[in-house]
Formats: sequence, C-alpha cells, structure tokens
Amino acid sequence: MRITVIGTGYVGLVTGTCFADSGNDVICLDIDAAKIEMLEAGRLPIYEPGLLELVQRNRREGRLRFTTNYSEAVPPAQLIFIAVGTPQSSNGEADLKYVFQATEKVAASLKGAPSAPNKVLVIKSTVPVGTNRAVADQLAGLGCKTIDVASNPEFLKEGAAVDDFQKPDRVVVGVRRPEVAEVLRELYGPFLRNENPFLVMSPESAEMTKYAANAMLATKISFINEMANLCEKLGADINEVRRGIGHDERIGFKFLFPGPGYGGSCFPKDLRSILAMGKKFAADLHVVRAVDQVNENQKRLLAAKIRKHFQDDLAGKTIAIWGLAFKPRTDDIREAPALTLIDALLQTGVKLRVHDPEALQRVREQYGDKLTYCDRPYGAIEGVDALAIVTEWQEFRHPDFEVMRRLMKAPVIFDGRNLYEPKQMETLGFTYYGIGRGRA
Ligand code: NAD
Repeated sequence: MRITVIGTGYVGLVTGTCFADSGNDVICLDIDAAKIEMLEAGRLPIYEPGLLELVQRNRREGRLRFTTNYSEAVPPAQLIFIAVGTPQSSNGEADLKYVFQATEKVAASLKGAPSAPNKVLVIKSTVPVGTNRAVADQLAGLGCKTIDVASNPEFLKEGAAVDDFQKPDRVVVGVRRPEVAEVLRELYGPFLRNENPFLVMSPESAEMTKYAANAMLATKISFINEMANLCEKLGADINEVRRGIGHDERIGFKFLFPGPGYGGSCFPKDLRSILAMGKKFAADLHVVRAVDQVNENQKRLLAAKIRKHFQDDLAGKTIAIWGLAFKPRTDDIREAPALTLIDALLQTGVKLRVHDPEALQRVREQYGDKLTYCDRPYGAIEGVDALAIVTEWQEFRHPDFEVMRRLMKAPVIFDGRNLYEPKQMETLGFTYYGIGRGRA
C-alpha cells in the first residue's frame, strides 16, 4: 500500500518505518525541515532502540522516504496517517492546532483531485472524543467530501516502541464504514499473526479508548505511590506489599512500581485532556483528578526528602542526579520527574552534576550552564554530598558500591526507583532513602 505519515516524531517515525518494513511504500512528512534533513542524512532525531537499523534498511530498499512537501506526499497515498503532536493547552485541553493544520494541508494538496476515491485519513495522534467528526467536517468544508476519516490510537511505549508496534497487544480502529476497517485490517495483518485482536469500533469509542487506557495506567502508578507513602509512615515496606498484592491475578505486577511520579509526553497531558472533556460535559472525574494530584505531589517527593535530610541547608552542597529521561531507553525528557527535581534543587542554591545515558543533550539544551553534565555515572558522583536516582536505566542497577563510596564526599543516596536493598545499603555504609521502604 502507499502510505504517508504526517508528523515524524516518536510515533510517526516508528509507524512509518514499521509499515515500510512490512513491505509498504511509505513517505514520512514533517514541517520540521531540520528533522527531515537529519533523516535524509541517515540519522535519527530521537533515540529509540532498534529504530535506526530499521530506518536505514527500509531507506536502502527504497520503501521509506522523507519529505517536507505535502503535494509530493499526499496525492499518491491511499492511507494518510496523522501523527502530529497534541500538546496540552493552557486550559488543560489537548491543543489540536497541528491536527487541523495538517488536515488543511492535506485538503490543499488534493485540490487537483477533489474526489480522491478510496483515500483514508487516519488519525493516530491522541485526540479528544469528537475530533474524528471535526476533521471529517473540516475536510468536507474544504471540498474533500469523499475521504474517509478513521481513528487509530497508538499504544506504543517509548523505549520499546518498535517492538510494541510490531507486536501490539491489540489494534483499535474507529470507522464509520466497515470497508475502511477492512483496509486497515489488511495493513495491520503482518503485525497480528499471533491472533492478537483487531478491534473495530466507532471513532468516538476509539478516541475514548486511548484516554481510558492512559488514565488506567496512570491510576495504577498513583495508587502504588500513595500506598508507598503510607508504608513509609507506618514502617511497612512497599516492595513486600507490592509482591503481596501482585500475585493476585486480578491485580498483577505491571505498572505497580512506586517512584518519583510519572512524566513523559502522554500521561500528564492526556489526563488533563480527559479532565477537560469531563468538565466540558459536566462529568466530574474524581478518580482521574486524584491521580493527577497524587502525581504532582509525588514529583516533588525526592526534593522534599533531600531538603529534610539536609535540614533545608543546601547552599554550597553538590548533588548528583542519575537518570534524566522520563523513563529508561529513551531520550525524551518531556514532563520528566528529573526536571521537577532539578528545578526545585536549583532554587536552594545547590550545585548539580547530572548524568543520563541518552538524554544529556536535551537537558543541556534546556538548562545550559546551570548544570554540570557528566558522560559517565561515576563521573557525576565525584565529590558530591548525595546522589539522587530518578530514572531506572539498567546500568544503575548494579554499580560498584565501594567505588561509589570512595568517589562521593558523603555516602547518601536518594533512590527514586527502589533499585537497591535498604539493609544492604546500610551494611555498605550508605545513608539510603528509597520510596515507601520503611519508616523515613
Ligand atoms: P512528537 O512531538 O515527537 O512529534 C510530532 C511531530 O509532528 C513533530 O516532528 C512536528 O514537527 C510534527 N508536526 C507538527 N505539525 C505538523 C504539520 N502540520 N505537518 C507535519 N508535521 C507536523 O510527538 P509524538 O510523541 O510522536 O506524539 C504524536 C501523537 O501521538 C500525540 O498525539 C501523542 O499524544 C500520541 N502518542 C504518543 C506516544 C509516545 O509515546 N510519544 C504514544 C502514543 C500516542
């Protein structure tokens, strides 16, 4: 099939590349010329494991191209995916301006072929319920009456995006005509060979499914964080409690790890968006609101622990931070809890030495010379008064604690991911703070 993907970010690039890899002829389009130039030069604008090899292979084999030009990319495509960003606007709603701009450009580039038979515009961006209808109305208003508009929310996780895309738990499509679902079923066929479900529903349900999924996942995280904070007050260990509940099949272990709060480009803004939808339609979403509030507090927890340890006297101290990306195996720092910690600590006059295996450059672009950037984890902890761990990169799990103790001025660790065992750390001579692991 001939496919064009509009928006070549984390979702669009993975989507386009994986469709090319299953034999389709794909053009990825973006308005960011620098991004397209980079891709044309064989480099990736993002870090995502396994993606570079896939992009290079499919370019070499002529199935994947990049452009900024709508009139080159849209007319030949049978399926046009929209994967542009839908960031949070000032009132919490998802800002749809990029979706509508892209739609307008699609319509403009089809001016010569207004009937455009059999073309489907597929909205992959996460968008509020009703957007599919609004985009269809927009297209009709611009003279494109025969283009179908489908909704196909994406559930991939950054850090495992290629794998998730190629082996999805399920594919959800929202359509108004069954024929459109059949085209998409054929497209996704190669990824569903293990009989994982292809779920056809109304566009409104498909749009809502994405928000409900993210709200549920965020709820699990805020729930376990709330339990962890109570454990800390009561002298219980959340790790023991987590195992105690996770073996119950109705509960399970996934997404039940306490931490410094969730971040990223999806959960925070999607929860605000669902809250905005609730407000607009007078449906009070108590659970979702609480999840968001718990998370906002949780993102401030590490800074509070650090201030308490140093009795609010941090001026002249140096603290190291390991892990800046919002999760491991990505360089994405959007809404990352590490940034909340950095902002809070900078206000106290502390000096910060930061390390992340992939996200250093993005943090440098944001903070400039306010921080000391360290390429190596051990380099970051030289002479520091404490270390805070915010992202659970694999390489932080088994460090040489002897080396660490020698390098650090004071052996104090604030472990936002519960990577280590409190008793072992005590034996090794560290002052150790985890999340919810006994009385703080
Ligand atoms: P992103 O910011 O990484 O990429 C968006 C891209 O769209 C940018 O490169 C931007 O230049 C481009 N763009 C904006 N307007 C454009 C236009 N008019 N024409 C062409 N390109 C345009 O965003 P992302 O993280 O890939 O997310 C995209 C959508 O997918 C969002 O709605 C997001 O909520 C959703 N989503 C993201 C993830 C994720 O893990 N990142 C997962 C599932 C769903």
